[in-house]
Amino acid sequence: MIVALVDCNNFYCSCERVFQPKLRNQPVVVLSNNDGCVIARSNEAKEQGIPMGTPFFKYRRQLEQEGIFVRSSNYALYGDMSNRVMTALAEFVPDLEIYSIDECFLDLTGMAHVDLTDYCRQIKAKVYQWTGIPVSIGIGSTKTSAKLANRLAKKMPKTKGVLDLSNAPHLLERALEKTDAGDVWGIGRRWSKMLAGRGIVTAKDFRDAPEGWVRQKMGVIGARTQLELQGTPCIELDIETPDKKTVCVSRSFGKEIEKIEGLHDALATFAMGGAAKLRKLGLVANAVNISIRTNVHRKDQKQHSESATIAFPTPSSDSLEVLSVTLSGLKRLFRPGLKYKRAGILLLDLVRKEDASRTLFSTPGEGKTKNLMSAFDDINQRVGSGLITFGQVRRSTTWYMTQNHVSPRFTTRWDELAMVGEPGQINPPPLKNSSAELIKGRRKT
Ligand SMILES: [Mg+2]
Repeated sequence: MIVALVDCNNFYCSCERVFQPKLRNQPVVVLSNNDGCVIARSNEAKEQGIPMGTPFFKYRRQLEQEGIFVRSSNYALYGDMSNRVMTALAEFVPDLEIYSIDECFLDLTGMAHVDLTDYCRQIKAKVYQWTGIPVSIGIGSTKTSAKLANRLAKKMPKTKGVLDLSNAPHLLERALEKTDAGDVWGIGRRWSKMLAGRGIVTAKDFRDAPEGWVRQKMGVIGARTQLELQGTPCIELDIETPDKKTVCVSRSFGKEIEKIEGLHDALATFAMGGAAKLRKLGLVANAVNISIRTNVHRKDQKQHSESATIAFPTPSSDSLEVLSVTLSGLKRLFRPGLKYKRAGILLLDLVRKEDASRTLFSTPGEGKTKNLMSAFDDINQRVGSGLITFGQVRRSTTWYMTQNHVSPRFTTRWDELAMVGEPGQINPPPLKNSSAELIKGRRKT
């Protein structure tokens, strides 16, 4: 097995920069939902010592004074940019595993005849040229060592963002010496303290620790990680994405909601989103769990947190059905006089439409509203999600998140496209053939 891990550098910050060139080479941070805390930092912001997880309200002054650019999270933009990066990567290898929004494993087995460092440099340059997102690539003979290589590729400027440890034993030794055991994929902080107590500090110490002891102390996962570091692949590439078992749509509200109408609006929107997602995946749900809760951080307020699970008569992905069941659940749960902060739905026990049990009178996903639903999805996909919906789903601003620093959804909304030539907006790309030159050219500006 030879596998590469492609990881986008400071992904959310990089997405913000693609369409806002003034952010390039500047310190940038991105905030979590409701502008809560810092969840992504550009290298410049890291250098200025802004810690991960910094609560925004505490550091707001400092961020302003230090000239750090602040953005609310813009998942419409990040999701779309992620798609573009993954599509670009798929051009280079037959098999890949999308591991997270900004990470992807590429199967390079069978490419031993090419210079993998060189090939991955090309991939890196093309991804940047096509999407504007900088990535780092680590190559290893197991997923765990590819992760390790990636980490070092990011840290060591000498590597220029690509490091191959798959066929270089001496490099691998040095990499293992340089890496803390706690920074190995699958070990983490939970174990690093216990390991340090036993004198196991580096990844190399861990690889060479007695196997029986590792297995006894850290179970199968620990043993697997150790074997992977020794060069035995234990974690397969997950190329076929297995069917999801649940679909969850839930949010914290920007403002607390006291009236049932506000929760109605929020849950109705979640129900519509959840049902559309099921149809997209070709799945149907057997039940839905509806939950609402007050603000757990406001100990001075009366607390209430409850959920209800309701089964569908037959497995369903029908918006109308999910909607009416969800709203009936809300009626059951809601208590007047309280301030609600969060609500959500969890569609449960999902099965493929064709595997779902049928009844005498209906086939899951084939009900009389099937055509309505597919017309629905079709229009919403072409024109913009949420354009058509049911009358019960009122548009409302009460439950939306607080996002005071959000940038436009440059790539998914016609009315939010970047304007060419406007001050501070994107410049026409330079006319250069080589992508390497393009990277240099852009970095300098
Ligand atoms: Mg990343």
